Amino acid sequence: MAAQTEIAWTDSTFNPWWGCQKVGQCCDNCYAAALDNRTGGNFFQQGKQPKTLSDSYWQQPLRWQRQAKKSGKHRKVFCGSMCDWTDKDAPADQRDRLWQLIRETPMLDWQLLTKRASNICKCLPNDWGNGYANVWLGVTVENQRQGLRRMAMLKEVPAQVRFLSIEPLLEDLGNLDLDGIHWVIVGGESGGKARSMQPEWVGNIHSQCESQKVPFFFKQLGGLGC
Ligand code: SF4
Repeated sequence: MAAQTEIAWTDSTFNPWWGCQKVGQCCDNCYAAALDNRTGGNFFQQGKQPKTLSDSYWQQPLRWQRQAKKSGKHRKVFCGSMCDWTDKDAPADQRDRLWQLIRETPMLDWQLLTKRASNICKCLPNDWGNGYANVWLGVTVENQRQGLRRMAMLKEVPAQVRFLSIEPLLEDLGNLDLDGIHWVIVGGESGGKARSMQPEWVGNIHSQCESQKVPFFFKQLGGLGC
């Protein structure tokens, strides 16, 4: 967790657990697995269960809530820079604990991003209804075959805010129907093994966001990140 983060489209990060398994091309150069490896965790290795985090760690968002309430300014929290919140291998009870925390922190806008879009509905709380006011649901869209399928699944889920993290962008996405999507983030891959991204691919998404009136946030050229 970080009270401040280098991820440009959020204010803070929080991880309900630590560890994940790769699910596709978008994960090939997973920065979280690399970081875990560097710090000797090995919680991203095949067959490894994610680790739970301490009670004191779980207190931090409650402090952010108090600060945000005092200032009257919402704080965006990206949930899961080191995990995927819809992972079926999430440690027991930790997802329910996350939902409880989200309910207790209405001044925090929780950004829940996943690459396991088919799991979203199974992981929502019973009182989800049309979506919590302080939760943004998002999926990763890296290519047409897997990414656009995730977008279609996201659109079927009731939510107050839906967003796309088009990162790493690995190919031109063609025509996009952004109906039901409220925010689009685009970025290339960073790091030593970064796959290249063409500026025209970004331009194509940008022009469709403009014409469909969807806010567009460009993160980085990458190859020029995760
Ligand atoms: S889903 Fe995310 S955290 Fe998990 S391996 Fe893929 S890129 Fe890494």
